[in-house]
Amino acid sequence: MLRELGIDLLPPPNCATLLLQAIAPEPAALVRDGGVIATGFDAELDELRAIQTNCDSFLVELEAREKARTGIANLRVQYNRVHGFYIEVSQGQLDKVPDDYRRRQTLKNAERFITPELKAFEDKALSAQDRALAREKWLFDQVLDRLQPFIPQLTRTARALAALDALCALTERSLTLGWCAPQFVLEPCIDITQGRHPVVQARLAELSGMTGPSGSRSFIANDTRMGVKARMQIITGPNMGGKSTYMRQVALIVLLASMGSHVPAAACRLGPIDAIHTRIGAADDLANAQSTFMLEMTEAAQILHSATPHSLVLMDEIGRGTSTFDGLALASAIATQLHDKTQAFTLFATHYFELTEFPATHHAAQNVHVSATESGRDIVFLHEIQSGPASKSYGVQVARLAGMPAAVLNQARHTLDALEAHASESQAQVDLFAAPIATETIAASAVDTALAGINPDSLSPREALEALYQLKALAGKT
Ligand code: ADP
Repeated sequence: MLRELGIDLLPPPNCATLLLQAIAPEPAALVRDGGVIATGFDAELDELRAIQTNCDSFLVELEAREKARTGIANLRVQYNRVHGFYIEVSQGQLDKVPDDYRRRQTLKNAERFITPELKAFEDKALSAQDRALAREKWLFDQVLDRLQPFIPQLTRTARALAALDALCALTERSLTLGWCAPQFVLEPCIDITQGRHPVVQARLAELSGMTGPSGSRSFIANDTRMGVKARMQIITGPNMGGKSTYMRQVALIVLLASMGSHVPAAACRLGPIDAIHTRIGAADDLANAQSTFMLEMTEAAQILHSATPHSLVLMDEIGRGTSTFDGLALASAIATQLHDKTQAFTLFATHYFELTEFPATHHAAQNVHVSATESGRDIVFLHEIQSGPASKSYGVQVARLAGMPAAVLNQARHTLDALEAHASESQAQVDLFAAPIATETIAASAVDTALAGINPDSLSPREALEALYQLKALAGKT
């Protein structure tokens, strides 16, 4: 690949010489502002630019020359916006003024004059900038015209340069951060040893650099083992525990590997992955009449329709945007579909503890959790992915860390105790993952069967209306 890039990187010889001569080493981004054409390329442009830069020295030099010529010691060459350039001579010296001085303005104690030389300079100076810009634009267009024949070659060179740039960036990251080459295998798997999230890791390193080793936190690498028998991970654990980081790091590693990059891990084996689908974060699109929950469901529906057994699916807190029962019911139905039908590699982070029952009845699902421990009333996040479900959700502790007022925390703790006591009393559990009851399937298929038997092209309007009534009646029975 590098050899091929090397060939494309060679610019056509004439073209390189032209570019080197015509374009400034550090050109401005817009021709409009000037500073694109190199010095020395065009004598007229150089002169116009010189006028702008040499304006002051010309005036000083002219003043000295005129003083010597006229013998007027206090003669001054000056400029103002209204009258332009002028030579000012005080009342007492007016008899020494030469013939070629033309009066421009009379003041109380002085007269202001212009000479043909100063007038010529003024014309040049005032228009120099405009003319320099126009000249630059014209020259630039000329350069473009001369480059025209090289466009296909230059496009290849630009592409090669962009590719080389991306490769260099990935190489630099790989060497600096100790990434490894992923191994691609045919067997379906995502097998990552000591995976890291490159951005979170870099940020933590930055923070620890600022606070010194005592206050520093380093990134905790985590393994991911997924295969045919372990397609789904149900991830539980407290907020701030590292669930999102873990899920995204797996997706990033898969993405980097698929791009041909090394990956932030000690070792990585990947089977064929055809797509990464994610449902992450709370966002809405109110302008387009999409509530947060609607968006969540739309995205989830899209994933269920398009993911395959070779896809990686990230589901972060699905069902969050509605009431607990609703959300839990949807989350469990979606998990079931992903496990049984879609069979995609799925990372399923959830707050619904009920979902940790899922692996008991679904052989390819596993519970994992982000670890945390309690130190007194505080919570300490360990950020380690461990097998098994989380034991607690620590919501109240996290709220405490966030600076929630004590009264709110006390009330929340009280309510939590009451709710938990109530839940353990009414143990008559609903089986979340039971198959839907049979009647629904029959009714739905009755409508389906009736629909399948209709050929709209062969119906008269009256028959069509009749068929519609029948379908409505059938649907009404469900
Ligand atoms: P959750 O999704 O469980 O609420 P996040 O993934 O958003 O948690 O992580 C919260 C914070 O914890 C991150 O911003 C990061 O600072 C820290 N963190 C997450 N994972 C790790 C890790 N593996 N090692 C160190 N710090 C981590």
